[in-house]
Amino acid sequence: MNAQEILARFGPREAMEYDVVVVGAGPAGLATAIRLKQLAAAQGKEVSVVVLEKGSEPGAHILSGAIMDPRALNELFPDWKERGAPLDQPVTGDKFLFLDEQGAKATPEFFLPDCFKNHGNVIISLGNLVRWMGQQAEAFGVEIFPGFAAAEVLYDEQGAVKGVATGNLGIGKDGEPGENFQLGMELHARYTIFAEGSRGHLGKQLIAKYQLDTGRDPQSYGIGIKELWEVAPDKHQPGLALHTAGWPLDKKTYGGSFLYHLQGNLVAVGFVVGLDYANPWLSPFEEFQRWKHHPAIKPTFEGGKRIAYGARALTAGGILSLPKTVFPGGALVGCDAGFLNASRIKGSHAAIKTGMLVADAAFDAIVAGRRQDELSAYPQAFERSWLHEELDRSRNFKQWFKKGFLVATLMTGIEQWLLPKLGIKNPPWTLHRAQADHLYLKPAAECEQIAYPKPDGKISFDRLSSVFISNTNHEEQQPAHLTLKDAGVPVAINLARYAGPESRYCPAGVYEFVKDDNGGDRLQINAQNCVHCKTCDIKDPTGNIVWVTPEGGGGPNYAGM
Ligand SMILES: Cc1cc2nc3c(=O)[nH]c(=O)nc-3n(C[C@H](O)[C@H](O)[C@H](O)COP(=O)(O)OP(=O)(O)OC[C@H]3O[C@@H](n4cnc5c(N)ncnc54)[C@H](O)[C@@H]3O)c2cc1C
Ligand code: SF4
Repeated sequence: MNAQEILARFGPREAMEYDVVVVGAGPAGLATAIRLKQLAAAQGKEVSVVVLEKGSEPGAHILSGAIMDPRALNELFPDWKERGAPLDQPVTGDKFLFLDEQGAKATPEFFLPDCFKNHGNVIISLGNLVRWMGQQAEAFGVEIFPGFAAAEVLYDEQGAVKGVATGNLGIGKDGEPGENFQLGMELHARYTIFAEGSRGHLGKQLIAKYQLDTGRDPQSYGIGIKELWEVAPDKHQPGLALHTAGWPLDKKTYGGSFLYHLQGNLVAVGFVVGLDYANPWLSPFEEFQRWKHHPAIKPTFEGGKRIAYGARALTAGGILSLPKTVFPGGALVGCDAGFLNASRIKGSHAAIKTGMLVADAAFDAIVAGRRQDELSAYPQAFERSWLHEELDRSRNFKQWFKKGFLVATLMTGIEQWLLPKLGIKNPPWTLHRAQADHLYLKPAAECEQIAYPKPDGKISFDRLSSVFISNTNHEEQQPAHLTLKDAGVPVAINLARYAGPESRYCPAGVYEFVKDDNGGDRLQINAQNCVHCKTCDIKDPTGNIVWVTPEGGGGPNYAGM
């Protein structure tokens, strides 16, 4: 039975009315909700706000580096210290290393461009900050529904967004309602704000429906894989932020690593690979695992213990790839729109800032009695903001990497170091991106196979033991939320032409090519392992894999990521 048939048989769905519905309790969604309530309190008005979160609690699906630029949080909560925000570890030093297989060259601090400097920033667990923001939001009277995934956008007769519907519960693997079946509910609003993070499932549909990306560069992404370690006390340097570029990636592949020393002997370590990579034999997961064995890196982890693992796609296209952010009845904020600054690997400040800007626009509209129109004051305010200036300055960053590592290093140095020293803040040229990430993949026969070393179980690990410590869980009796437009494509195209890249880029081992009873090839989808990183939805060579929301509450349960 498909969704329409289920609705026809069991509907209509129960509907609840709000002034504002927010999809996603990340920094962007929670900043939206908090700011709305702050404005309402300051002006003695009532504004009802609900936030839906697909994770089991706010923070459960949050994975980030993270070094936070506190600029936007200072604006949202000038008193965040007194309120006990978990921003305890200021950055005490920056190191940037260029790696080759055995060696490492450090960039002298004087030559570090501003985008790689973190003085004044704070090393945090973004998941913990989001948990704290959730508590603040509830104290302001925001309703938060954790464990509820927004599965469908609802439109009125004029084609404006009128809200969202949560997914049905208790549908069996065969698509039929089972014993515990429960119909989803509708949440209607004057304005619906989409804050799903990178490659939002509904955001993607809205961009297509309203053609929000017309005239914009295609969005570009990276996959970030992260681990949290408890290191030996003598290896711990609280506040140190280390970044590397170069090995093990080849010179045409965009990416690099981060290693941040938090408090309490904790080290957050991760590796980002641009999803415009060309070689289908590449495995971002295994690049990360072998990178940890570099002589300049390995000592940090010797004698330590890995305590958490996860992965998430991040947007990297910057301001040139930003879609129009408003449409009748709603808006896109944070990474759902793509506000991350790739040159700084920072998006949490942008998420909070855009949440605040959309809240200002929505509040004024609600007070004026408007509903379901375009909140055009939001993109206008963004254009006047410090965030616009910041993103505009680094608009070429990722595009240079398509010209090779040396050109990219040189031009990043010129744009981010030399020009500012000469008093030119904004480069006088603009570089555009030609195509979407998945189109860069080359046939396997044209590329060199990569032989990855076996994990040693101490510094490096396999996928399954990694997923285990992401605490990922899905109700097993539901249809797979990794859907295929055409079930024949994985074997006929992906395996035949690209050697099955989904079995390598998925950081959770969800995709496996196995033999069927007749000795033929078959794609097995282990949907219960999915950590919701969205990489398959981005990188599948023909766009055949579509990620849809599983039952709310499913997915990873990250602690401290
Ligand atoms: C590896 C990595 C390292 C990074 N390092 C840094 C860093 O050092 N500093 C920095 O500032 N930024 C960093 N970022 C970027 C930063 O994490 C993001 O910019 C930020 O999290 C974006 O916030 P958001 O609220 O837009 O989205 P998210 O933080 O992704 O939050 C979205 C929320 O919405 C929920 N959601 C999604 N879809 C639905 C749905 N349909 N229904 C209900 N809920 C839904 C999700 O579960 C999630 O809780 C990094 C990102 C990655 C992946
Ligand atoms: S199935 Fe897709 S979304 Fe899930 S972990 Fe794998 S690549 Fe990420």
